Amino acid sequence: MIPFNKPPVTGKELKYINEIINLNNKFSGDGKYTKCCNEWFEHTFKTPKALLTTSCTHALEMAAMLIDIKPGDEVIAPSYTFVSTVNAFVLRGAKIIFVDIRPDTMNIDENLIEAAITDKTKAIIPVHYAGIACEMDVIMSLADKYGIYVIEDAAQGVMSTYKGKALGTIGDIGCFSFHDTKNYTMGEGGAILIQNEKFFERAEIIREKGTNRSKFVRGQIDKYTWVDLGSSYLPSELNAAFLFAQLQVANKINDDRLRSWHIYYEGLQELETKNLIELPTIPKSCEHNAHMFYIKCRDINQRAELIEYLKSKSIQTAFHYIPLHSAAAGSKFGVFLNEDSYTTSHSERLLRLPMYYNISETDILEVVLSIKEFFINKISID
Ligand SMILES: *Cc1c(COP(=O)(O)O)cnc(C)c1O
Repeated sequence: MIPFNKPPVTGKELKYINEIINLNNKFSGDGKYTKCCNEWFEHTFKTPKALLTTSCTHALEMAAMLIDIKPGDEVIAPSYTFVSTVNAFVLRGAKIIFVDIRPDTMNIDENLIEAAITDKTKAIIPVHYAGIACEMDVIMSLADKYGIYVIEDAAQGVMSTYKGKALGTIGDIGCFSFHDTKNYTMGEGGAILIQNEKFFERAEIIREKGTNRSKFVRGQIDKYTWVDLGSSYLPSELNAAFLFAQLQVANKINDDRLRSWHIYYEGLQELETKNLIELPTIPKSCEHNAHMFYIKCRDINQRAELIEYLKSKSIQTAFHYIPLHSAAAGSKFGVFLNEDSYTTSHSERLLRLPMYYNISETDILEVVLSIKEFFINKISID
């Protein structure tokens, strides 16, 4: 069986966890390994402030608190995304204005955003799908023009760049995920990257249950108290140690994934040339992290047939998001602006292929061959 995903393991995870156990003085959050991870992000991605969190969902929730989302505020986001992108803002009372995507990258269409902005708009939430950047120059200049925040959902974008800048470090706030399905994992976890310095202090407070405990730990105050709204958003040291082992070999993981991505791309190009499938587009301004390899079939029925065919060959594949505006909660908490030209139709065609750290070239070539067989048999039947 060729699985769809295998979470990465790189070798030093247990060593670092053992070290914590042997020291036997701190298993909870914000110890040595959390600091190592935070500093690694700040240094590698050139951002002034990064904090490890319990998930990307929680990093997004922190962002919603930091920008003071209140009932009646509006937030602009794509509908083709994971529920947490918008749920974090709905929790604080925001209404979501869903904007259509571009079919080439499956990212929010930057040219449709301005029409969605009203005097209630508080933020734009670009989602860098498949680790391929949204058109951030346009988004940042709109945010500037209208005085609204940009919160990047960079869950899939760790190690990707847009015009040389790391994803997650372009907007006011960026959010990463270290879930098993992402390029780097700590089981469950994430990070918040803060570029807007007015949020630095409050972010620490929100992450520490609404207290100024971080200042206390640094010896800046002699007791800590409840000062603001907050929750428990810091992960345990055991998880941080696991992640740090992976961050230390981040380039190795990234290179390996990119190599796999290109094997798929080259192998499947023939089918694209024959107009049987579509392959992903990487705009010139983007360097991506091979988070995902997807193809687009003709329609949802052909995709279902292909999934079944590959399953019969012991190859696991996965489609992706059901557009949020078509879900029960989506229509309750949001509204789709104007026409859904691509969100639904292209989400129905997209199929993700097996992609993970250390997938073998043999396995990738087997997937490629099976997809070719499917389409070639298909042509002779049609
Ligand atoms: C995975 C993912 C999330 C959620 O990440 P968690 O760490 O599991 O909370 C949010 N947004 C997008 C786009 C994702 O892919």
